[in-house]
Amino acid sequence: MAQNAGKVVVVGGGPAGMMAGFLLARAGVETVVLEKHGDFLRDFRGDTVHPSTLELFRELGLIDGLLARPHDAVSTLSGRVAGKVVRIADFARLPVQSKFIALMPQWDFLDFVADEARKLPAFFLRLGAEARGVTFDPAGRVDGVTLADGAHIPARLVIAADGRRSVMRGAAALPLQDLGAPMDVFWFRVPKQPGDNRTTGVFEAGRIMAIIDRGDYWQAAYVFPKGEAEAVRRRGLPAFREEIARLAPELAPGIADVQDWDQVKLLTVSLDRLTRWHCPGMLAIGDAAHAMSPIGGVGINLAVQDAVATANILAATLAAGGDPDPLLAQVQQRRMFPTRVIQRIQKMAHDNIIGALLRPEARLERPQLALRLLDRYPLLQGIPARVLGLGVRREHIRSPEVG
Ligand SMILES: Cc1cc2nc3c(=O)[nH]c(=O)nc-3n(C[C@H](O)[C@H](O)[C@H](O)COP(=O)(O)OP(=O)(O)OC[C@H]3O[C@@H](n4cnc5c(N)ncnc54)[C@H](O)[C@@H]3O)c2cc1C
Repeated sequence: MAQNAGKVVVVGGGPAGMMAGFLLARAGVETVVLEKHGDFLRDFRGDTVHPSTLELFRELGLIDGLLARPHDAVSTLSGRVAGKVVRIADFARLPVQSKFIALMPQWDFLDFVADEARKLPAFFLRLGAEARGVTFDPAGRVDGVTLADGAHIPARLVIAADGRRSVMRGAAALPLQDLGAPMDVFWFRVPKQPGDNRTTGVFEAGRIMAIIDRGDYWQAAYVFPKGEAEAVRRRGLPAFREEIARLAPELAPGIADVQDWDQVKLLTVSLDRLTRWHCPGMLAIGDAAHAMSPIGGVGINLAVQDAVATANILAATLAAGGDPDPLLAQVQQRRMFPTRVIQRIQKMAHDNIIGALLRPEARLERPQLALRLLDRYPLLQGIPARVLGLGVRREHIRSPEVG
């Protein structure tokens, strides 16, 4: 039996949870976001705010405020493949106003959304509130959330936005399909002198890196075959630093700053999705519904799109005191298609590019034909820009705003 008592409880204050909380509260739905950390200032978790997300903030009338936060605008993407620079994507070709990726630390992005959301009387954010499980009513419908401190919060709907290791989806036994990934990643920072943005990727036989230019530091990703983190560590920091300086000479001047493996964070790459995103009383969105590979830096943007679709489909019914349960499947229906398409592209990249390049016998003497064509014909660079920047089945803000 659906209940109208209590608030909507969103578990997780990442991009999916904060946007869902903001948009539901904007429609007048009492919503509390529970975030287990005391702030948004955590380890690097991606900086890429794509044109699809920027356009949503434009639709909300918040783009100027968002872009007033510190960020870099990147309008082309290129990579170094077998030592040759190839241009891959040109966002200036997109048919939208936001013709660039904004590189903005995730905590600044989340702080901005939190600041806007706090202006709404229906929005509540509880920091330092860790959810541990869900409770069910006698009919088996999720009707609340239990916290680590033993408290219970009744909920008319729980939105699980607690990321790729979601406790909530486990508590509600939502079924997970693992698609596998051939690599893991070490993330680390290297200081640099400010200058023009030189974000790029490096592809060589046996080695892949992404280096994101963050002004006065590089955020670097070193990609290696899955499960080999310990083997890389065993070779020692001096060998690691030497390898990085060889692959990405622009990092050489600052690499001595990496003095301890504690500065080098392991990301265990996952590619998975729930086959059912909902049960009576609960809906999973963002990474909790589908962990994305870091390829393309799409995770934040998919999470935001899920939140927008959730509000578009549920907000009016929730605001009118209606039963959200019959609508939950519509959110999955709407968002499963883009999730599948992007995950399929990521899986193809895993199998045909990353996995192939990381094999010990891999050879790479020059950029592959597709990359050479992209580099030679700038018109083609609009295609990856469109897939990456705008995604598939782009959402628009359709949820109501109360006066
Ligand atoms: C190292 C790294 C680099 C990445 N780089 C990029 C990138 O460049 N571009 C990109 O688009 N994506 C990137 N991603 C992926 C991106 O961070 C995620 O796809 C995106 O943040 C998903 O948003 P989300 O809101 O679904 O989940 P998350 O961002 O994971 O947010 C979940 C939130 O829930 C909170 N939480 C978890 N459990 C509980 C609980 N039990 N109770 C209360 N709160 C809880 C967490 O603290 C967290 O704040 C990266 C990820 C990592 C780890």
